[in-house]
Amino acid sequence: GDAGVSPESRARRLLDERARRLGPSLRLSYREPLEIIRGEGAYLVARDGRRFLDLVNNVCHVGHCHPRVVEALAAQAARLNTNTRYLHETVVEYARRLTDLLPDPLEVCYFVCSGSEANDLALRLARAATGRRGVVALEGAYHGNLGSLVEISHYKFAGPGGFECPPHVEVAPAPDVYRGRYRDGAEPARRYAGDVTVATARLADRGPPAAAFICESLLGCCGQVEPPPGYLPAAYAAARAAGAVVIADEVQVGFGRVGDAFWGFELQDAVPDVVTLGKPIGNGHPLAAVVTTRALAEAFDNGMESFNTYGGNPVSCAVGLAVLDVLEEEGLQAHAARVGDRLLAGLRQLAERHPLIGDVRGRGLFLGVELVEDRTTRRPAAAAADDLVEALKSRGFLLSTDGPAHNVVKIKPPLVIGPEDVERLLVALDEELERTEG
Ligand code: PMP
Repeated sequence: GDAGVSPESRARRLLDERARRLGPSLRLSYREPLEIIRGEGAYLVARDGRRFLDLVNNVCHVGHCHPRVVEALAAQAARLNTNTRYLHETVVEYARRLTDLLPDPLEVCYFVCSGSEANDLALRLARAATGRRGVVALEGAYHGNLGSLVEISHYKFAGPGGFECPPHVEVAPAPDVYRGRYRDGAEPARRYAGDVTVATARLADRGPPAAAFICESLLGCCGQVEPPPGYLPAAYAAARAAGAVVIADEVQVGFGRVGDAFWGFELQDAVPDVVTLGKPIGNGHPLAAVVTTRALAEAFDNGMESFNTYGGNPVSCAVGLAVLDVLEEEGLQAHAARVGDRLLAGLRQLAERHPLIGDVRGRGLFLGVELVEDRTTRRPAAAAADDLVEALKSRGFLLSTDGPAHNVVKIKPPLVIGPEDVERLLVALDEELERTEG
């Protein structure tokens, strides 16, 4: 037992045991790792009783341990859990509810268990439909932890422990107007979309031609980048002109997070051929989905059965339905728009006073604050970003950094974050930036 053991030595023991038992490539967040034992709304509670505002969890979308979701999960788990080889009303009802949220012609669902599985299946659909193998993805992008996805994720294969870009992959520049190659220039959307054409042409010259172009609707690992207006329709058109299927990875940004739309691609009136969904879809339960067109689904139905043991089981579908109910009943998309706009405006005010802030961007509750050592050179301030995250943590706010230079502070909280939380965050950020800048 733990009686008589100090909290420090208890934490040390847990850390040591974890290091012994779990794979060493797993990482913990923060210089002093946190032991979180409870979650509620947008808050996490540590073993020592400290409460933290969770500004990074875009999985527990409608709030940690939402009672409606927990109740739906428990009730279905107590009744039955099987798989998609039996008829079940909940599964069909959930597929109907989900596809009703997507624009035509996206009407056919496949259920899987993770964002990675969704993207892997999306690639298989594209390959079956085109008879090709190549993939065009964006620089700095991450699409999942399966072998097939590490191979197309520049964020991984070009990073520590990585490898040369595989022959079936071509990387197009991220449509970043702050740090990218067409910063501040005219018509960035057209120029970045032109690079998608270039990437498909290179692939056709060199390796297997492109089966798919895959792109997040707002770019997460690239550093919370919102593509310039018109990029998605132009890039999708470029990919289709080269015969590729367009996959929108909505694993991070879907389900109302961006506020002004339910899906990220709707912000630019673009419609992909395949959409992949994950993280927020199950509020933390391992559920994910692929939604596509009838034509692509039929091309994939080539005789080989597609089956996923856990994907679309009745418990997962009950959870997915409860998440959709809560989003609707609590008006969380509109809330994300309102609270996100206030946060964005507050961050822009901070940028006026703090030269460390080079750029503030994003939509709804998917925001990024890019820190720079110098606003003219835009030299990334990665160490300052780390220090800021640690300082905010000690004040009860959980944030993290991302982007190719690790200098972008990410903000993507559960959608139930309150207006008063946002005001407290802005005050804390202001004070800590003041301190850093001396
Ligand atoms: N796509 C994107 C954009 C992601 O951010 C992630 C996870 N960070 C994935 C796919 C993979 O999802 P999972 O970890 O659920 O497999």
